Amino acid sequence: MTGVIDFFVVHVFFFKQETAYEMVVFDDLSRGHPEFIPGVRLVIGELSDERALADLFSENDFDAVLHFASESLVGESVRNPDKYFRRNVTGGISLLSAMVKAGVKKMVFSSSAAVYGDPESVPIPETAALRPVSPYGESKAFFEKALGWYDKAYGLKSVSLRYFNAAGADPSGRLGEDHDPETHLIPLVIRAALTGEPITVFGDDYPTPDGTCIRDYIHVTDLAEAHVLALKALSEGLETTAVNIGTGTGFSVMEIIRAVEEVSGRKVPYTMGGRRPGDPAVLVAECGRARDILGWVPAHSSLREIVKTAWRWHSRAT
Ligand code: UDP
Repeated sequence: MTGVIDFFVVHVFFFKQETAYEMVVFDDLSRGHPEFIPGVRLVIGELSDERALADLFSENDFDAVLHFASESLVGESVRNPDKYFRRNVTGGISLLSAMVKAGVKKMVFSSSAAVYGDPESVPIPETAALRPVSPYGESKAFFEKALGWYDKAYGLKSVSLRYFNAAGADPSGRLGEDHDPETHLIPLVIRAALTGEPITVFGDDYPTPDGTCIRDYIHVTDLAEAHVLALKALSEGLETTAVNIGTGTGFSVMEIIRAVEEVSGRKVPYTMGGRRPGDPAVLVAECGRARDILGWVPAHSSLREIVKTAWRWHSRAT
């Protein structure tokens, strides 16, 4: 499952169950890193390329698809919704069409807490209204709804994993986030600690105890485990559903800065900036469904472990 760690890049994993999760990765490499998946067959292509998908499905007898391929930056999606609807919606539907044609009936989909928008209450249960406040969240909510219709019409069963804030790095130190440009909070705070270049905190006037946004950070190792469990549950007959993948505990931007200072022993320089469009004040998961139907419980997601593994990865890479 090595490549799963690279969950936020544009790629898709295919599984052939009879050979114990033999995988093929389909990736346009716009964000992905082939060196992160040694020994795994990589097919380079785009989801919009129907011919490439048809060839891939006809050459292989897949049991399931893990669909990670997506643009995933909230702020960028507000500035450039066209990119998000084309890549996340049109690309995803092209993949579903190929699955239907090939008779592949199981999908684990990377959804997002962004489908909830500004929730009425926290922690957020899966039954909360989907009211996204960004094109990114809208694209994920649309795709989840499409999956419901593909189940009704074609019997395609899916689990939409609503990721809260994926963070941390592989404890071995071999894999971690590598984005260009980097936009995520924890890597940027670590970079500020390493370089002395201040990070901008996006807003300190939110209705939270310290005025900065609160998020529920989930370690990538736990996130990867949720995919394996979702795949198993689908094989055992789980019906189409959506599941929150978070810890149930939130941390503010300032608490993240303090945690990095503690782990690194360095000062994190920061400046206060304005709000980033599309950012809800608080996103924290209610996680009962993941425990009940997948048997999933996060084991690596204390803030200390998240920050420690991320620090190890980023301080090594610099
Ligand atoms: N954030 C920030 N400064 C940055 C990047 C992020 O204050 O340079 C905040 C952002 O507003 C959000 C939180 O950190 O409240 C997490 O943002 P990130 O982009 O990591 O993940 P997202 O919540 O967008 O999925």
